[in-house]
Amino acid sequence: MSIALICTGTELLKGSTVNTNGAMLGRKLVSMGMTINFETVVGDREEDLYMALSASVRVADQIVICGGLGPTDDDISLPCTCRFFGMELEEDPVLHEKVKAFWARIHTGHCPRKQYRQAMVPVGGRYIPNPAGSASGMFFEADYAGRRRRVYLLPGPPSEFVPMVNDHVAGMLADGEKWRVTTGGFLCAGTGESTISALVEPVLSKVPVEIAYTAGFDGTRLYLSGKKTAVARGLKLAATAIGDSALPPGETDLVDYVVKLLLKKKLTVGFAESCTGGMISSSLTDRPGVSAVFPGAVVSYSNDVKMKLLGVSPDTLSQHGAVSEETAMEMVSGVCRVLGSDCGIAVTGIAGPDGGTDEKPVGLVYIAAKVRRKVMVEKYNFRGGRDTVRRRTMARAFLMLLHLLRNK
Ligand code: AMP
Ligand code: MG
Repeated sequence: MSIALICTGTELLKGSTVNTNGAMLGRKLVSMGMTINFETVVGDREEDLYMALSASVRVADQIVICGGLGPTDDDISLPCTCRFFGMELEEDPVLHEKVKAFWARIHTGHCPRKQYRQAMVPVGGRYIPNPAGSASGMFFEADYAGRRRRVYLLPGPPSEFVPMVNDHVAGMLADGEKWRVTTGGFLCAGTGESTISALVEPVLSKVPVEIAYTAGFDGTRLYLSGKKTAVARGLKLAATAIGDSALPPGETDLVDYVVKLLLKKKLTVGFAESCTGGMISSSLTDRPGVSAVFPGAVVSYSNDVKMKLLGVSPDTLSQHGAVSEETAMEMVSGVCRVLGSDCGIAVTGIAGPDGGTDEKPVGLVYIAAKVRRKVMVEKYNFRGGRDTVRRRTMARAFLMLLHLLRNK
């Protein structure tokens, strides 16, 4: 049974609201062995919702509609969807009381007639409880083009949508699922999408799986969807074809995987950050439970701090400059020494937009990585603006650490 999601809201099209509900439902379903097969975003216009419904019923038996359940005139999802499926609406007495009580909690005076639009339920359907807001969700089944369809309507605010999916809708969708799809994948660390597709597509041509790639600065994530056994077989074949850069199945996050390796090997890592200004540390501390591997870091932006806190020699700085292989090397050994860590990463570069010269242009970054006695240093010329240069630097730093950890 395939699933379609329609997100409504002109603000989603304009980008003033990010469609986090779509991402949340997608991830939730994948974690349960299902997937959204088709997704559309439409503005708050009846014609557009009709168009999205027409497209959705062509590909899906279960259709989730998010947003547009409020009491105002741009909230058209329920009447419009019911008209599409030929469903009547009737007022539910329990919801009538809920709407009235919800109004009284926030306002004085009597509840306006318009509010009671939120008490209307499709005849033969039922409402889905929403403890966090006044608009209840709705569920009904209807025949369309000779097939039974299950339709869910949910309010747009994530504070309401997310718990309703977790508590009710995910289970209801699973219950209606006859053909379960599994999705599995892994990160191909540091390798680009075209390289990965050239390697995996020939070996997967006879395996019944759908292939998806998502490229990032840290490499390419390869995902396969299909029946469980086919996905497992496909992942194995793909990993063999890709070789070294393939992380184990299920490992799609570089930093998480590096942390796992550090924990397994009982190693700690410290950072000396110049142009990344703490981003590398922050990406590690975004994850709970890293205190066993992360003692701390030094943000050594100025030459003074590089010398005073990390022990970089003044001669190195005057002869080679702050952005140099030599400085990066002294920074990494310095940070491991002062923090007492087994491993280290040091970055020094020119993130731009100013500060570049012909000899040392914007995007020039040196990264040094150290795992016990093994040290490597690399020079990069990254393209892009300040933010991109810094994010590329961070990704490369973790890739270098991964390389040393795997070859230890
Ligand atoms: P609605 O249920 O359409 O009245 O939506 C109420 C609010 O929820 C909107 O103003 C948005 O800020 C938010 N919202 C609606 N749809 C989404 C979505 N797909 N993802 C995240 N927020 C949303
Ligand atoms: Mg809306």
